[in-house]
Amino acid sequence: MIKSYEEYINSLNDGRTVFYRGKKVSDVANHKILNVAIKHASNLYKMQKDEKFKNLLVTKDEKYGEISAFYKIPRNEKDLWERFNLIYETTRQGRGMFNIIKAIGSDAIFALMIVAQLIDKEYRTDYSKNVKNFYEYVIENDLALAVAQTDVKGDRSKRPSEQNDPDLYVRIIEKNKEGIIVRGAKAHTTQSIASNELIVIPTRNLLENDKDYAVAFAVPPNTKGIKMISRPMKATEAAISDPSFVMGNNNAENETLTIFDDVFVPWERVFMAGEWKYAGIMASMFPTFHRFTAIAYRAAMADLFLGLGKLISEHNGIENAPNIRRNIVNLLTYKENLILSGLGASEKYEIDKNTGIAVPNRIYTNIGKLFANDNYLNAIKNLVDIAGGLAATLPHNDDLENPDEKDLIMKYLSGAKINSTEERVRLIALVREIISSYGSLFTAAMLHAEGSIEASIIELSRSYNYDGSKKLALYSSGIINSL
Ligand SMILES: Cc1cc2nc3c(=O)[nH]c(=O)nc-3n(C[C@H](O)[C@H](O)[C@H](O)COP(=O)(O)OP(=O)(O)OC[C@H]3O[C@@H](n4cnc5c(N)ncnc54)[C@H](O)[C@@H]3O)c2cc1C
Repeated sequence: MIKSYEEYINSLNDGRTVFYRGKKVSDVANHKILNVAIKHASNLYKMQKDEKFKNLLVTKDEKYGEISAFYKIPRNEKDLWERFNLIYETTRQGRGMFNIIKAIGSDAIFALMIVAQLIDKEYRTDYSKNVKNFYEYVIENDLALAVAQTDVKGDRSKRPSEQNDPDLYVRIIEKNKEGIIVRGAKAHTTQSIASNELIVIPTRNLLENDKDYAVAFAVPPNTKGIKMISRPMKATEAAISDPSFVMGNNNAENETLTIFDDVFVPWERVFMAGEWKYAGIMASMFPTFHRFTAIAYRAAMADLFLGLGKLISEHNGIENAPNIRRNIVNLLTYKENLILSGLGASEKYEIDKNTGIAVPNRIYTNIGKLFANDNYLNAIKNLVDIAGGLAATLPHNDDLENPDEKDLIMKYLSGAKINSTEERVRLIALVREIISSYGSLFTAAMLHAEGSIEASIIELSRSYNYDGSKKLALYSSGIINSL
């Protein structure tokens, strides 16, 4: 089923407990700041009913009929590459802002399908059935999903069971005939306030002592005991008083500190409950799908930086100057390297034997993600270098609209293109928005979201097959006679 925009918006008014700046929010969709995150999410529902985008966002499944393309299970290279383009294009439609509400949940469901099979084989559990039923419920109701993986973690040098406070990682505090009761908190949960279901999975590998922390499940966000404390949405707050901040007024996502205050989860919604050996496998399988998603949306964001840099350099009349050409080529290299890693990860996919799910190639996915982490601030440096100091000192929109100032501002801020100063000013205003009201979010997100830099380094160093390289070194130094 394909849900309409209105059905989606109405589904969020369900009594969920959300706090914004110290106040309880009664209806997220009608909150003057949070509604921007909801409006951004709802664009996916609008687009899928729009003939122009339907082919991109909707797919026909043999068994289930019309479903959201985000929920199509990838079986081969073509499916993965289509998924990459779906995320890339929907991010472009969001003015360079990722739209997570179906991508992250499907990343988690694909990983859960794979891991549940492994657990079931070893422990004769029934988790695969639970995951399948949940998947069918999601696609039949065309739901928006959030994934809470990152625990608050307390003392980073200690394992979950070693923490001074045992609740610093989400854990099972009780198992009974009906289900489990969980306690703890997850940090940075993107678009939990805009979701219909919260998927919870472990954040790291675990040992036997940590078995209570080996827990995966899905619950609606209005479940008793769930409290979502929103971060301040600085970009949207800034945009309310400055209409030139187009992104902040229209395209924003929200993160919450998501608290599970003794939350009951019925057994049919549990996907792992104590099988500690599989927590690490889940904690790395989900990021493999999710980092593939990340390189797609980050490539689209890079496309925005490239377009901005190119247009502003033309407005400044220096698009062919060697220093600016270098900036532009740095920006296009940033974007295209991400696209290349997405292509490589699609083409060199691995098939999970138990489920037939195509898993993006781990090496190319993590190389792309790490490249995006390492080079984001450099991309911004190139963009700001092109834009000049006006990216900080541009007069406010109120001045641009004041008849006493407007003509003077337009006269003195003109560039190389006659009669096009307004365009120049608006483009530079967007650079200002990216580095100011969006600055802290983008900087932290581009370094940490989808796992820290170190997380990709760990994955790469343990998954890479060094055999061929070592053999070549032995051969070239004369230690062995052939390759
Ligand atoms: C905008 C944004 C959106 C996000 N969305 C989601 C989401 O939807 N769902 C979700 O589950 N998560 C989400 N995340 C969380 C993201 O995956 C984490 O931020 C990331 O994994 C880092 O964890 P942390 O923030 O707790 O930082 P920390 O783990 O505290 O890391 C900080 C630094 O300490 C280092 N470090 C940590 N532990 C150790 C150790 N034991 N030894 C050595 N070094 C260590 C790290 O490598 C890093 O350099 C989001 C994050 C951001 C910024």
